[in-house]
Amino acid sequence: MAKVSLKGISKIYDNGFQAVKSIDLEIKDKEFMVLVGPSGCGKTTSLRMIAGLEEISSGDLTIGDQYVNNVAPKDRNIAMVFQNYALYPHMTVYDNMAFGLKLQKTPKDEIKERIEKTARILDIEQLLTRKPKQLSGGQRQRVALGRAIVRKPEVFLMDEPLSNLDAKLRVQMRAELIKLHNDLQTTFVYVTHDQTEAMTMGTRICVMNDGIIQQVAEPKVIYNHPVNMFVASFIGAPQMNFLNGTIVEKNNKIFASIDGTEFELDEAIVKAVKNGGYVGKEVVVGVRPEDIKIVGEGQGLKVKVEVTELLGSDLNVYFSYKGRQYIAKEDAHVELEFNQELHVSFNSEKIHLFDKESEKSIL
Ligand code: ATP
Repeated sequence: MAKVSLKGISKIYDNGFQAVKSIDLEIKDKEFMVLVGPSGCGKTTSLRMIAGLEEISSGDLTIGDQYVNNVAPKDRNIAMVFQNYALYPHMTVYDNMAFGLKLQKTPKDEIKERIEKTARILDIEQLLTRKPKQLSGGQRQRVALGRAIVRKPEVFLMDEPLSNLDAKLRVQMRAELIKLHNDLQTTFVYVTHDQTEAMTMGTRICVMNDGIIQQVAEPKVIYNHPVNMFVASFIGAPQMNFLNGTIVEKNNKIFASIDGTEFELDEAIVKAVKNGGYVGKEVVVGVRPEDIKIVGEGQGLKVKVEVTELLGSDLNVYFSYKGRQYIAKEDAHVELEFNQELHVSFNSEKIHLFDKESEKSIL
């Protein structure tokens, strides 16, 4: 069992800065948990505390059934893959991969067997005699992964391992890491600031901001039911649009009114709006770009096209409304011109509502 449990974990650096603020997180055995958030939110600090590379200021950390707050990194049964790979430049790939095992006094034959097997999995068999500087970025990345895999850790900790790769290789390695996780059947804790990596790779995602966990859930749940405006805007590209609105009731129906244009709300939202006492109140209306549709004149909001971006199958349409810019995702065949006036409406069942003060989801 390699679950990782963080209870009330905080990190206060020597200069008094609190990078992680009493976080609780249960990472399940064999889970691919992605810690995601903007730069400086505390994800690397959290990972390094799990690894034992950073002292825990307060709270309890357990890996498996072992309380590890004061256990040295080498005794935690974890392996870490860093952003810069941290390979020893003077050693061959083989020796880089063997290094940790030699320290553990693993017999030579077993080291050889494990390295050969891992090299086969990662398709780096032909690189074993090379030095790191004779490798491409993608190959170095594989070696760094290989060095972690040969140690057969219970938990893999990865800190932005793909960020030094070019876009194409990154997409390829993303798929390979998912496969690797399926093959190895171990726990992965993966740090990234890239929401696409989080969405595509995570069994669950932990969204952090300012040293605090905002939401932990499966990617689909995070996307469809973000708990607050921060999560709603951080996950999803292009990001969710936010408009000011008021909840109004007319003829027993509940609407979100944006400058007098009314959008009927879905049943589930209506319930939450009534229970929360939001009728008559101002709210923030959130709409994802793909939930904005172009409608005929006289309907929806009147907006003006500013920029269009054709992305093969989709067309991103940047439009302005009351001096602010928003974005819609339309089918590629839609033809629009600069400055063209449009009318847009929203998929009512996909409208998100947020409390204006707390910025929390009303659902
Ligand atoms: P990034 O994506 O940029 O790596 P992150 O979310 O991983 O960001 P951390 O590296 O965990 O963030 O840093 C969290 C906060 O702690 C940042 O504000 C950072 O400046 C601060 N910090 C990190 N290391 C130290 C340190 N040794 N002393 C003081 N403050 C630190």
